[in-house]
Parts: sequence; C-alpha cells; structure tokens
Amino acid sequence: MQSLGENWRKGQKLLAEAGIESARLDARLLLEYVAGCNYTDLLRSPENPLVLPAQQVFDQLLARRATGEPLAYLTGEAEFRGRVFQVSPAVLIPRPETEVLVELALEKLRGLTAPTVVDLGTGSGIVAISLALECPLARVVAVDLSNDAISVARNNAGRLRAPVDFRQGDWFFPLAGERFDVIVSNPPYVADGDPHLALNGLPFEPQMALTDRADGLACIRRIVADAPAYLNAGGWLLFEHGYDQGEASRNLLTAAGFKAASTFPDLAGIDRVSGAHL
Ligand code: GLN
Repeated sequence: MQSLGENWRKGQKLLAEAGIESARLDARLLLEYVAGCNYTDLLRSPENPLVLPAQQVFDQLLARRATGEPLAYLTGEAEFRGRVFQVSPAVLIPRPETEVLVELALEKLRGLTAPTVVDLGTGSGIVAISLALECPLARVVAVDLSNDAISVARNNAGRLRAPVDFRQGDWFFPLAGERFDVIVSNPPYVADGDPHLALNGLPFEPQMALTDRADGLACIRRIVADAPAYLNAGGWLLFEHGYDQGEASRNLLTAAGFKAASTFPDLAGIDRVSGAHL
C-alpha cells in the first residue's frame, strides 16, 4: 500500500509529465479529495496509507487530469466569492473575473429598497446565488436554456440556502411581462473558432456557455436589444464580455437607448464588464 506522501509525489510527477502547470497543487487537491483529508493532515502524517478504494479513484482521477480535464469537474466543486459551488460538465467553471459583475450589480441593488434582479444564463448559479445571499432584500430570478444547468444551480441554491426563482428558457423568453431593476448576464462571448476554445480545459466545458458560434457578440446584441422591455425606469443592464469587446458593447448599449454606457476592468486590469442604465 502506498502512503499519502508517496501518492502526492507520484501524482505530481505524472501531472508534470503531462504538461499540467499546477501539477503539485492539483495532485495534492485530488489526494485530499479521495483521502477525505486536508492539507494539514497531509503535512502532518504523510506516512499514512491511502486505502485501496481511494487509491483506485486517485489513479483514475490523475489519469483524467493528465488529459487536461479541469480539476473542478473531477472533484465536482469550485469556489466563488468564498463559497463552494457544485459543478458538472453541464455548467461553466466559476471564473474569479465574474466577481466584477457581482460587485457592480450589488452596488446598483444596494441603493434600492426592495429591488428585483434577473441573471440571464445562470449556469451553476454563482451570480444569482451570490446576489441573493449578499443582498437579502433583493428578489432574484435566474434563467438558463439548459435544464441540466438549472438543476445544478437549484441544487447550489438549496445547499447555500439562497432564495432564487429559477426559470428554464431562452434569454428573456420565460420573463414575459416582468420588469426588473437590474439585469445581469455572463453570456457566451468567445467567437467561433477562437484558438482559446482549445486551451486550458475549455474543450471540457459546455460550448453553449462559452461561444455564440458567431463573432462573439451575438448573445450580447440580443440581450442589449431586448433588455429595455424588461427593465424598470432607470434600471441597469450589466454583462460580462471579452477583453476586446468593451467598445462594441458600449456602442450597442447606446444604440439601444441606454445612458452612460461604461466598461469596467477585472482584477487583472482587463476590460470585463459593461453596463448602462435606462
Ligand atoms: N471568461 C471565459 C473564458 O474566456 C469565458 C466565459 C464566457 O464565455 N462567458 O474562459
């Protein structure tokens, strides 16, 4: 039987040879996951054995990670804003840059007494759930086209005790006749054929959440054009986009009748979210 320490070294070597940059960290996180232990346990008792069923699972997960499958899909969870969300290949893995979208939406919601907000293309639900938990006075609705995504998001909302009203459908379709104070979205915005889609584990993620299979702005165009009919007077539309889509996004917002279109950078200083109000 191999010890935890031996398995860590073995895993690191296997992943490094497969070209995984975070080999040491990923081997450790997979080992903690299968052994049901934490980093302290690992450092304190590396001589502890990894029991047989866990050993088999560890070897299988290492082999999958070596092919580039993202760690979050192997452990079934990922962190966003300090909370753990369950993820499956039906949903995008949370990205830290999406925090900018949440921060901006919170800023708009906090100025209102009983605000309403809808998250279009909620995926795992990270945006809607973060808003519901951090702005308890807001009524939060979340929409996704994918039934599988909705079940992942519902499960996350239940586990985190976030009151979110989920609807299945195409963008605004399930919201007929309703109006909101804030509309947020992290839509698919990677252009068809963008070489980025073949890198960093993206081939394992749902393509419908990443690319519009067009120029990258197709979903943004639709959301911007339809949003005014679903916003209250003075309401805000905020959405995430690619590093080079800020100007096009502001132009679309202005052309749709929005005021004060602006673009905000993420923590890396890259244009990431645009928004405007009616
Ligand atoms: N930011 C993601 C990426 O480039 C894309 C997310 C999205 O399309 N909404 O990997």
